[in-house]
Amino acid sequence: PYAGPSSAEIIAKRQQFLSPSMFYFYKQPLNVVEGKMQYLYDDSGKRYLDGFGGIATVCCGHCHPDVVAAIVDQTRRLQHSTILYLNPAIADFAEALASKLPGDLNVVFFTNSGTEANELAMMIARLYTGCHDIISLRNAYHGNAAGTMGATAQSNWKFNIVQTGVHHALNPDPYRGVFGSDGEKYARDVQELIEFGTSGNVAGFISEAIQGVGGIIELAPGYLPAVYSSIRKAGGLCIADEVQAGYARTGSHFWGFESHGVVPDIVTMAKGIGNGIPLGAVVTTSKIAEVLTRRSYFNTFGGNPVCTAAGHAVLKVIEKENLQENAHVVGSHLKDRLTSLMDKYEIIGDVRGRGLLLGVELVTDRKLKTPAKAETLHVMEQMKDLGLLIGKGGYYGNVFRITPPLCITKEDADFLVDVMDYTLSKM
Ligand code: PMP
Repeated sequence: PYAGPSSAEIIAKRQQFLSPSMFYFYKQPLNVVEGKMQYLYDDSGKRYLDGFGGIATVCCGHCHPDVVAAIVDQTRRLQHSTILYLNPAIADFAEALASKLPGDLNVVFFTNSGTEANELAMMIARLYTGCHDIISLRNAYHGNAAGTMGATAQSNWKFNIVQTGVHHALNPDPYRGVFGSDGEKYARDVQELIEFGTSGNVAGFISEAIQGVGGIIELAPGYLPAVYSSIRKAGGLCIADEVQAGYARTGSHFWGFESHGVVPDIVTMAKGIGNGIPLGAVVTTSKIAEVLTRRSYFNTFGGNPVCTAAGHAVLKVIEKENLQENAHVVGSHLKDRLTSLMDKYEIIGDVRGRGLLLGVELVTDRKLKTPAKAETLHVMEQMKDLGLLIGKGGYYGNVFRITPPLCITKEDADFLVDVMDYTLSKM
């Protein structure tokens, strides 16, 4: 049994010693002390189905034994910087990762986070093209350093940074967007930004395939192919931010961009790829990667032996345990069942997403799409008490984000929907 400090003691210490900007979920925040695959355990030993761990850490399950073994084994032998000497772990993982990407995308740079990966990707695009302008989408989240905060387009996450050269295009959001599901109409906006907001040449375009923080928004069909074509005509590079949609999560494909039928010039990833270990990556072509030889470029810990051993183990587990297939099968079942809740509850305005990257949007009026923010918080709290943890997001904070570890079972999915059903029935 847990013998550590109480939640109240931890909160008191956080208030005294940690940044006041740190936030937590739930009025009574959980003290999570153990994780095992798709489950988390609090300090009283209570078990929760982790319906949200996938975004932050776990792709193949909390403390997956193969990943833990790889980390422990490498830690015992050596943990060091990536620079200065040779080590097999980074090269082996880079090779394995490159083999998962299409086309000529086979040069990997490792980082410690998604922010760093996107900062690097945007810098590469600017160096390669000699241009400064970058187009990103309204409602996007790409990170919280100067450049990526500029590309991020939700005021919730932006400070008054000096934002140079970033243009935010209309979001191709099928639910709330002005053109519904007509991807090509939204793509016109990017073309017009190029024509009327830049010299006619741009450094690039960055977007997620399914916006995570933004509330699980699947970009309207036809959007990315049209935009990629406009950007390339303007000399720019197309960057796919796969920090949330990547690595088998969408089920139908290994990468989120694949379901849009495009091949990016640069792909970034982080979060789940280390299964809880800080690890990010940028993958591009050897021709584009050349730009980083103009000066010395390094990252002290990006791609260190322990993190890359973990990353490599994750890739092997995904294959060994068929987790992409599982994301597809369990995710489709889960989405079908969530969608059928719409017949019972007016408050569910939309159910969307792919595989195990799903969103449920709550509205107080289906026609007006008025965000049901307070109700979302209330339902989340109640579901926690019943042993289910899920996330929330969207600009208005009224979208449930369901991104469990990829190993959840059909029974877990049924439990999740039953808990949501029961909670909504008590509203
Ligand atoms: N890109 C996307 C799509 C993200 O969701 C996030 C994190 N929410 C980031 C980038 C930034 O990643 P990190 O927090 O690891 O810097």
